[in-house]
Amino acid sequence: MNGMNSGRVVFIGAGPGSADLITLRGARRLAEADVVLFDALTDPALRELAPHALWVDVGKRGFCHATGQAAIDALLVRHARAHRSVVRLKGGDPSVFGRLEEELQALATAGIECEVVPGVTAAIAAAAYTKRPLTRRGAGRSVSLTTAMTQQGRLQAGRHADSEVFYMAGRQLGALGRALRQAGWPEDTPVCVVSRAGWPDAVASDHALHELAAAAVLHAGRPTVVTVGAGGRALLRPSAHPGLAAAQAGHGVPAP
Ligand code: SAH
Repeated sequence: MNGMNSGRVVFIGAGPGSADLITLRGARRLAEADVVLFDALTDPALRELAPHALWVDVGKRGFCHATGQAAIDALLVRHARAHRSVVRLKGGDPSVFGRLEEELQALATAGIECEVVPGVTAAIAAAAYTKRPLTRRGAGRSVSLTTAMTQQGRLQAGRHADSEVFYMAGRQLGALGRALRQAGWPEDTPVCVVSRAGWPDAVASDHALHELAAAAVLHAGRPTVVTVGAGGRALLRPSAHPGLAAAQAGHGVPAP
């Protein structure tokens, strides 16, 4: 079957936090939606941008594992065949750890037209919140966005860039710290942990690599990114940043 009579699907990056982090283009496309399939980490306030659309929560438990992904793919295709405009709203940027590949592939196979609207990814929101540029002249020439979790659920960490931002490692900060040391990062590498970046209740903390486990309590149960290396280093004394809590006194990152 071809997609001649199908609607189109727009993947929209909602940004990592508050609704106003969505792009103008994202907001416009959202306003045109008949159906919105949304993830758990998107701000409910975005509903105001498409009050007449049918909002379908696909971020619930049960949609999260592999079979859940197949169900989402099928749902997308079904809605695209029944409606003119379907929005797939994803937290952060759809192209970063967003399962976009599977969904684009399913739509391409069904012959359905798509568009992708970018969003602010969590690593960038964390850099903005802490006022720590991810690239630094001289010392920070490369950035990597990394998930510490393999498909099999094992933790894996290496040393790929001057600044490395880890996603989906919030529950395993101690193990991440050990893996990073094994991968060759020095003990005193600055590490900045930020949870709920982009939300009003964002929290950031500084740690030396060997003390990363201490961050677990502070960020428990919250979406968290871990910035290691050049981009994790403070510009000023950490105490100059109101939202920044050094996990343990005396272990803040020294000013350069
Ligand atoms: N597409 C998203 C990432 C989805 S994977 C993006 O571009 O941001 C989910 C992981 O993203 C979480 O485990 C966490 O590591 C990170 N994350 C998402 N929102 C976050 C936020 N507001 N603050 C910190 N980390 C966040």
